Amino acid sequence: MTRVHNFSAGPAGLPEAVIQELGPHLIEFSDAGAGIMEISHRSKQFDEVIQSTEASLRRLLAIPDDYEVLFLQGGASLQFTMAAMNLGSTLDPIGYILSGHWANRAHIEATRLGQSAPILWDGKSSDYQTLPDANTPELSRVGTRWVHYTSNNTIYGSQFHEPPSDSNQLVADMSSDIASRPIDIARHAVIYAGAQKNLGPSGVTLVILSPDAIAASRAKSGLPSMLNYALQTDKKSMFNTPNTFGIFALSLVLNWIETQGGISEIAKRNRFKASKLYAELDASAFWRPQIETKARSLMNVTWRIADEALESTFVKESQIQGLVGLKGHRSVGGLRASIYNACPAESVDALISFMKSFEKRYG
Ligand code: PMP
Repeated sequence: MTRVHNFSAGPAGLPEAVIQELGPHLIEFSDAGAGIMEISHRSKQFDEVIQSTEASLRRLLAIPDDYEVLFLQGGASLQFTMAAMNLGSTLDPIGYILSGHWANRAHIEATRLGQSAPILWDGKSSDYQTLPDANTPELSRVGTRWVHYTSNNTIYGSQFHEPPSDSNQLVADMSSDIASRPIDIARHAVIYAGAQKNLGPSGVTLVILSPDAIAASRAKSGLPSMLNYALQTDKKSMFNTPNTFGIFALSLVLNWIETQGGISEIAKRNRFKASKLYAELDASAFWRPQIETKARSLMNVTWRIADEALESTFVKESQIQGLVGLKGHRSVGGLRASIYNACPAESVDALISFMKSFEKRYG
C-alpha cells in the first residue's frame, strides 16, 4: 500500500511511526494477555496509560501544577455547551469573539442555554478574512470575566498568533492547533480540543482547566453529572468509561512529539512548512490566498484559484497524484491544505511541485 499525501482537515494523518507502534498493542497490551481495547479502564495497565498520558501532556505543554487535565468525549462540540454551562452566568458571562464557523457554533450553544453571551467582535462583515488585534479594547469589555476564542479557524484558515486579551480569563477552542506551538496556559481558564487533528484519533477531547474554572463549576448547582467539570475532575476522567484506545493512541502521539524534539521543534517545522506554501501562493496572481497576511493559519492554508472554475480540476488532478483532502470546506469552497504536526515536509513539497505543474498547464 502507498500512503497518500494527506491534507485532510480532521480526522487527519497521524505519524506513520505511531500507526506502526499501535498495531501489536491491539493484540497484546503490556502483560494483560489482551489488547488495549479489551482491558478494563480500571485495570492497572490502563491506569498507567492514563497517568503517563497526562504526565506527557503536562511536560510537553508546560501545564501549571494547579491546572487539571481531562480526557472526555463528545468532541469540541460538547465543550461549546460544557464551557458555557460550567462558567457562564448572568453576573459573569462569557464574551465571544466570532472569528469563523466554529466560534459561531460555540456562541450559539451558549445562547441555547439561555445565557447572556455578549459578542465582543464579529468578523462576519469581512467574511472572516481577518482577526482582531490582541488587546483591542472591545475584547476586554468590562464585566466580561471570561472571553471565548477559537485559536485556529479550521475552515477559514486564520489563526491567532497570540492570545486575544490579557485582561480576561480566556476560554479557548484549540481543536486545530493544540500542541503545534508553545501556549501560555496560565492565561487560560479553559482550553479544549478534539484530538483528531494534532493529537490522535477522534473520540477523545482534551480539556485543561484552571483552578478558577473548577471553582466556578463547583459553585453551580444542578449540572448534569457528565457535563460537570468539577465532578469529571474529581473522578479523574473516569466518571464513565473513557475512550481507552483513543487515550492510548494519544499517548503514542505525545511520545512521538517528544522524540521529534518537543513542541518548540514541532513549532519550527510548522512555521517552515507553512511559509513555503504561502510563498508559493504569493508568487503568482494565478493563486489567491484569502486571509489577511497577519492572520494566516500555519495549520490550515486556504486559497482560491483566480479562475475559480479551475478549482474542481485542481482537486481531481491532485487526487490522481496522491494528494488527498485539498477541497475547501463545503461552506466556503476554494482549496485548503491542512498541514498539522504529522504532515511531513515532503508532502508540502509534493503539493508545491504539483501546484507549479498545474499553473504551467492552466495559467
Ligand atoms: N472547533 C474547531 C476549531 C474545529 O475545527 C472543529 C472540527 N473540525 C470543531 C470545533 C468541532 O469538533 P468536533 O467534531 O470534535 O466536535
